[in-house]
Amino acid sequence: MQPEDLKKLNIAIVGAGYAGAAAAKALSLLGATVTVYEQAGEIREVGAGIGLRPSTMDRFRQWGIFDAVAKVSSPSDYFEILTGTGERIIQEEWPGSGDYAEVTKTHLIHRGDFIDALLSVLPGGMVRLGHKLESVEDRGDRAALTFTNGTTVEADLVIGADGIKSVVRKLFSDNEPVFSGEHAYRAVISVDDAHGMVVDDNLRMYIGRGTKVYLLPLRHRGQVSFDITALRSDGTWSPSVTKDDILATVEGFDERIVDITRDLDLDTVNVRAVYDIDPVDTWHSDAVVLVGDAAHSMLHHQGQGANSAILDAGALADALVEAGSVAQALALYQATRKPVTDELQRISRQGWTEDEVDDVFPGQKTAPVEA
Ligand SMILES: Cc1cc2nc3c(=O)[nH]c(=O)nc-3n(C[C@H](O)[C@H](O)[C@H](O)COP(=O)(O)OP(=O)(O)OC[C@H]3O[C@@H](n4cnc5c(N)ncnc54)[C@H](O)[C@@H]3O)c2cc1C
Repeated sequence: MQPEDLKKLNIAIVGAGYAGAAAAKALSLLGATVTVYEQAGEIREVGAGIGLRPSTMDRFRQWGIFDAVAKVSSPSDYFEILTGTGERIIQEEWPGSGDYAEVTKTHLIHRGDFIDALLSVLPGGMVRLGHKLESVEDRGDRAALTFTNGTTVEADLVIGADGIKSVVRKLFSDNEPVFSGEHAYRAVISVDDAHGMVVDDNLRMYIGRGTKVYLLPLRHRGQVSFDITALRSDGTWSPSVTKDDILATVEGFDERIVDITRDLDLDTVNVRAVYDIDPVDTWHSDAVVLVGDAAHSMLHHQGQGANSAILDAGALADALVEAGSVAQALALYQATRKPVTDELQRISRQGWTEDEVDDVFPGQKTAPVEA
């Protein structure tokens, strides 16, 4: 589309998570008028860390916000997968760091710092809090939104960035979230409380008996994100668990992991049942489109959900520049992104047993060595 046509676009984004905030940044850089509608009265994120891949960091460079993210994150060289007792199964450099004009590393970041950094680079007033979407009406070349507070708006393009339980997705699909049979117990703790398990800036995942323990260092904060994902049958979104329930999931693991778990303050542990969705066949009409978890929520085992949300935003902006109309751009965006996220959804469901490590990294599994 021509720059003058992009500037005339009035875009409404539903959801101010990573996908919505990134789309707002990318599309406002095209000159469009963008408004983000968020249900929450205040933006808060789960206390946990995530890894931002080189492709994500490169998008931030393109958008001029690399430094805003880099200053609240730590670069990392590799990740390791180990047995529960610490024998290394694989050590792998984060892929893609050499794919760009400048070496671009994976950055480890606290989720709260990440959303704050993204929102801080949006023009003031772009995000409207306290707007919970009730319904969306597709009117062909425009769409209308109705919020539970009584507000209605019409836009040339509506972007559904409203997460795994997306209301916007109902236009295209009746896919409901699917329980993975797992819980995630997550906390951010001081490195001093990590019993010597944090030795550098690299992510380590310990696996055994269906449990995965992730230690993701946040050196710039003097902290580490500690995440236990374990097989559990209770699919309540925020289940009640005791310290003993959590300790049972790491029984037989490295004694230091057991010690960290025993020391956790349960009040600071985020407890969630883990869900994803089946792939959605259609992500768009001529005036409405899905991004992020609304389109392709995936399990966190590959650490790709937030990264995919950012890459969606970048691909959508590229498609609007490249295509002749909004409708064509939305089709191009889906054609670019859906094959990638379909595959990520599929492999994320594989989880990580030693055999599954071999499926995802064929031939790279080492004979267990001392870590
Ligand atoms: C346990 C766990 C660990 C994870 N680990 C990683 C990781 O290491 N790396 C990684 O890349 N990804 C990870 N992810 C995935 C990542 O968190 C998600 O993919 C990412 O948050 C998706 O961003 P989003 O903006 O699409 O959705 P969300 O973050 O869910 O944001 C959706 C936003 O929309 C708002 N909203 C929802 N409904 C409405 C409505 N009706 N009206 C208005 N607003 C609405 C919500 O309040 C929210 O602000 C993990 C996820 C989980 C659960």
